[in-house]
Amino acid sequence: MHHTSRLEISAAAYRQNITFIRSLIGPKPTISAVVKGNAYGHGIAQLVPIAEKSGVNHFSTFSSDEAREVLASSSGKAEVMIMGMLHLEEIPDLIRLGIQFYVFDLERLEAAIQAAKAVGIQAQIHIEVETGFHRTGFDWEERQRVLELLRKNAPFLELKGLCTHFAGAESAQNHPRIRQQILRFGDFADFFRENGLTFERSHAACSAATLLFPETQLDLVRIGIAGYGFWPTRETFQMMKSRLSPDNPNPLRRLLTWKTQIMSFKKIGQGDFVGYGKGFEAPEEMSLAIIPVGYSHGYGRNLSNIGKVLISGAFCPVVGIVNMNAIAVDVSHLADPKQGDEVILIGNQGDNEITVGSFAETSDLINYEMLTRLPSQIPRLIVD
Ligand SMILES: *Cc1c(COP(=O)(O)O)cnc(C)c1O
Repeated sequence: MHHTSRLEISAAAYRQNITFIRSLIGPKPTISAVVKGNAYGHGIAQLVPIAEKSGVNHFSTFSSDEAREVLASSSGKAEVMIMGMLHLEEIPDLIRLGIQFYVFDLERLEAAIQAAKAVGIQAQIHIEVETGFHRTGFDWEERQRVLELLRKNAPFLELKGLCTHFAGAESAQNHPRIRQQILRFGDFADFFRENGLTFERSHAACSAATLLFPETQLDLVRIGIAGYGFWPTRETFQMMKSRLSPDNPNPLRRLLTWKTQIMSFKKIGQGDFVGYGKGFEAPEEMSLAIIPVGYSHGYGRNLSNIGKVLISGAFCPVVGIVNMNAIAVDVSHLADPKQGDEVILIGNQGDNEITVGSFAETSDLINYEMLTRLPSQIPRLIVD
């Protein structure tokens, strides 16, 4: 099958990022690779074997379909943890597959207990508690009820974890709230411990918390964006800077390169409009290359007249509107561009680089969104 573009995923870059994270957290905490959103666009099927080769054998997903995909992509020793959506009726199946899952309300807890009884295998659960994120998690007022249910049904439950999630550790303005959350999580941990209940692991930290709040590293860190080579925000990077070695000021490396090729050329004269409508009017004679990637492939319309690509190591600006399947770029300044020449949409060519961040306009969180919008149909190739 021919596709109009492809994504290369660097195993070496992932190894480097994991080595850096390991250097921060020390040998003890487990690293869980967060692979929701098709591994932040990198492809679950590609990322799981790369992670396993880097010594990461724990994976966190949002949903049960992703968890099944992790199992299918794994060499067999992976621990898989669903942090979000599953259907209660599939719990027996998940238990048989050995998939762990978050429990954050009484309905799911009851369903897990019933399913474990029916299947005859313990449900491997993580109790998520509400510390201030206000999305999912048992409230402080529910702790006694949860304790009683866990105690009464102990034979049916393997208590894999006690966990929570922080509300924006990547931004200093949220840090008072994060500190409150850390205290509340400690209260929950104390409460269960004082009542004789132990969990295999406590975990709370995402990438930003792992970097900025070492006290949240606990027994396991859930690493998403940093594993893929991005700082959660520019602010996180600024706050980390003093702790980074001067010889290696940016230890995180992007895994992803997005490539395509020149499909065709068009010469236009002064005053000609390019593509639909009047999005771009040529100020002079120009040579355009037509590139077979558009918004249906994840190259956003917001990049109309703004985006840049690399051809022959030089930046070539997008002219006109990003179409469903194609863009036009200005190649007037190139010596001898040819059909089939490599085009870099994200990545390095020569001395230049198109970063994922350059796709961003204003929001610092755009990395996450841009990556997860890369359609799963684009072929992904593992490179070293
Ligand atoms: C997405 C997510 C993470 C990982 O967040 P990053 O900022 O990408 O490291 C961790 N925990 C939970 C519950 C998440 O939803």
